[in-house]
Amino acid sequence: MSHNIAVIPGDGIGIEVMPEGVRALEAAAHRFNLDLNFTEFDFASCDYHERHGKMMPDDWRDQLGSMDAIFFGAVGMPERVPDHISLWGSLLQFRRAFDQYVNLRPCKLMPGIKSPLAGRAPGDIDFYVVRENTEGEYSSVGGKMFEGTDREVVIQDTVMTRTGIDRVLKFAFELAGTRPRKKLTSATKSNGISITMPYWDERVAEMAKSYPDISVDKFHIDILTANFVLHPDWFDVVVASNLFGDILSDLGPACTGTIGVAPSANINPEGHFPSLFEPVHGSAPDIFGKGIANPIGQIWSAAMMLEHLGHADAGKAVVDAIERVLAAGPGDAPLTPDLGGRGSTGELGETIAEAIKNG
Ligand code: ATP
Ligand code: MG
Repeated sequence: MSHNIAVIPGDGIGIEVMPEGVRALEAAAHRFNLDLNFTEFDFASCDYHERHGKMMPDDWRDQLGSMDAIFFGAVGMPERVPDHISLWGSLLQFRRAFDQYVNLRPCKLMPGIKSPLAGRAPGDIDFYVVRENTEGEYSSVGGKMFEGTDREVVIQDTVMTRTGIDRVLKFAFELAGTRPRKKLTSATKSNGISITMPYWDERVAEMAKSYPDISVDKFHIDILTANFVLHPDWFDVVVASNLFGDILSDLGPACTGTIGVAPSANINPEGHFPSLFEPVHGSAPDIFGKGIANPIGQIWSAAMMLEHLGHADAGKAVVDAIERVLAAGPGDAPLTPDLGGRGSTGELGETIAEAIKNG
């Protein structure tokens, strides 16, 4: 089966790590006999903005809509184009237009990486954060009254729909079902937020009836963040609303060490539209041009893309290769400086690609 993949390097180190992501995909395609066709796009970058006065061409939706997946680097160079223009003019448009209602981030401590949590070893932290990505607290419903007076009032509503909650819960339950522990944790705050969060809890309880194999628990968001730090081993799949998921999906990867390795996915699970796979890190202008960016976040995102496209074996092979190269350590593998080594982006990418090919 062949897959058409849009490649959008974007800005900064996105341009440096993307070739390593593609190299990993080519290695996996070679080993698993997959037919991947890559089409590179120069838009969603500040270079494009400087040439055209906008982040993307008017027909970007047509250009990308027929693709099977979008492989994204990073966007934003705040000295050149303000972040609200670069981000709103690209990535956030994709999420909305392609109804990528799940944001998925693995939080897995890899060998050779020191967690900021004292005494944690690989195996202690291995869970997913599933964030609702389209509604909830980030609706733009509300307003300002009595502006300019000392009676000013601001209101912003949370909008949750049954369909919106159920579809992200379904994704999370299904994901939990694929995992050995089969455990799902829901993030709530129904002791303080008295209308939307009790409804969220109600939908979780309802959905749980259809998944009798999955053990379900819930925590209020305040104690949940504490438990991410104190007991990360408790978690398997964590599902959360847009705001709570935003917080947890930064905290989780932070507990697993360097920002250079963490991947993420914005998913339209039904495949009506292309899903987007990108590293958690940004364009990192401070290290751009030095050839020292860690390519693992991009390569791991490639693994998530393979899994989403139905090639779980190939995705696992990519993650296994990353783990083997990291386990070799900076003495035996060309790890980048953020991992304590002296390797370059290209050297580390090439080593991982070889490890993918050799199995
Ligand atoms: P965002 O674009 O999401 O707002 P940001 O621009 O604030 O994020 P990043 O670009 O992710 O932040 O960079 C944060 C820090 O992490 C920087 O000091 C950067 O050098 C470092 N960093 C980010 N990605 C990598 C990487 N792949 N390899 C090494 N260091 C990285
Ligand atoms: Mg940035």
